Amino acid sequence: MMSNVFEPASSGRSKCRGCGRHILRGELRFGERLANPFADGEMTLWFHPMCAAYKRPEPLLQVLAETAENVPDRERLEQVARSGLAHQRLPRINGAERAPSGQAKCRNCHESIERGNWRIRLVFYEEGQFSPAGFVHLDCRKAYFETDDIVNQVLHFSSELSDDDREELKRACATE
Ligand SMILES: [Zn+2]
Ligand SMILES: [Zn+2]
Repeated sequence: MMSNVFEPASSGRSKCRGCGRHILRGELRFGERLANPFADGEMTLWFHPMCAAYKRPEPLLQVLAETAENVPDRERLEQVARSGLAHQRLPRINGAERAPSGQAKCRNCHESIERGNWRIRLVFYEEGQFSPAGFVHLDCRKAYFETDDIVNQVLHFSSELSDDDREELKRACATE
């Protein structure tokens, strides 16, 4: 079994499993190797290092400890990944959005999330796949994640938001 890796991307074709965006050619990428469930052999899931720190903290820390590569922002990556190990629901964060309808219920309080209200998107990781796993109210963040320190992570996976919305989300996260 080959182990997980850090390496510069050899092309610009790989997509990050964490954020869905392309990894630029030459950019350092993290590869998590898994047995291929559909065929013999292995497959590699590629991530931007920070996306892996947020969503796959355990394998990322393992590789950080072993790699000979000079990893930019190493301390920050370690700090983020340790936080994800300490608060085990944090790796589920997949950004935030305004609810487009009032149909979804919050996984924390089980009340409906009203249309137009901020909600945090969740994903569950299992065997190489991230699957949509519902939402929590922004206001339920502390109860659900057991920490209030989530704004950077939420913004990291909310690249589709406008600058105004990002500012508003930051303000909303600064209030109880
Ligand atoms: Zn990414
Ligand atoms: Zn709630």
